[in-house]
Amino acid sequence: MTAEGVSLLTSIYLGLFVGGLAFFWLWEDGAPLRPFPDARARRRHALRNLGVLAAVILFADLLVGSWLLRAGERVLETPPGLLTPLALPIAAQVAIAFVLIDAIEYGLHRLAHAWRPLWLIHTVHHSDPHVDATTGVRNHPLETTVAIVVRVGLYLALGLPLWIELVRVIVVNTLFLWQHSNVVSPRWLEALRLVFVTPAVHRQHHSPVPPLIDRNFGQMFSLWDRIFGTYAEPQSEAPPEYGLRKLAGEHWQSLPGLLLTPLRARLVPDPL
Ligand SMILES: [Zn+2]
Ligand SMILES: [Zn+2]
Repeated sequence: MTAEGVSLLTSIYLGLFVGGLAFFWLWEDGAPLRPFPDARARRRHALRNLGVLAAVILFADLLVGSWLLRAGERVLETPPGLLTPLALPIAAQVAIAFVLIDAIEYGLHRLAHAWRPLWLIHTVHHSDPHVDATTGVRNHPLETTVAIVVRVGLYLALGLPLWIELVRVIVVNTLFLWQHSNVVSPRWLEALRLVFVTPAVHRQHHSPVPPLIDRNFGQMFSLWDRIFGTYAEPQSEAPPEYGLRKLAGEHWQSLPGLLLTPLRARLVPDPL
């Protein structure tokens, strides 16, 4: 991989992300699966979720990823690691990174539902009472920080080049927007759930009540949920309701409320 290649990947990443948000914004406007009360409520909801994204970019991406971990400078380096002696072709390295990181994300997601300190951070994603494409970027900066540290650590430990992560997030971020989109996807796309986590599959996870909230933890591949018995086949496009009942008020849903949720929610008794 060359510096030009990395800048091309970065452009594709940003273009697909901004283009994807705009694409779903228009589609959700024309044919929403679950309409907002009015356009103003929809705009306010989107601005708040994008506000959380801005905090993620500043804190997790720039401060931790770029500055502390120097991920940008290391993107072309291939440090020696556990896989180095095998001298694997690049396609195999990409495949290993995709499968392994997806398995780790599945495990981390399950841990976030089982271990209260992580759950308090993860609630920011779950407390959204209206799931749409902007929910895909509604993750607390601390949650993204944990994910970045784990992923960079894995690439360094295995000796895989970090630019592979750039390729992976192009796929995963586009997938996130689609998984949370407030539209009904064509049947042939939903049929991909045999292999991938589709919107109907992921929406079940946004139900506030068990068992659905404890099902479908997968990020990219539905394989892990199927193997470990946490897969729930969607019985409908979406569960009857979204969000977390105790975190539904304005106190929680404003931008400061969202960013302070991990602190404030400590005082809320389980289950959240
Ligand atoms: Zn979750
Ligand atoms: Zn989600």
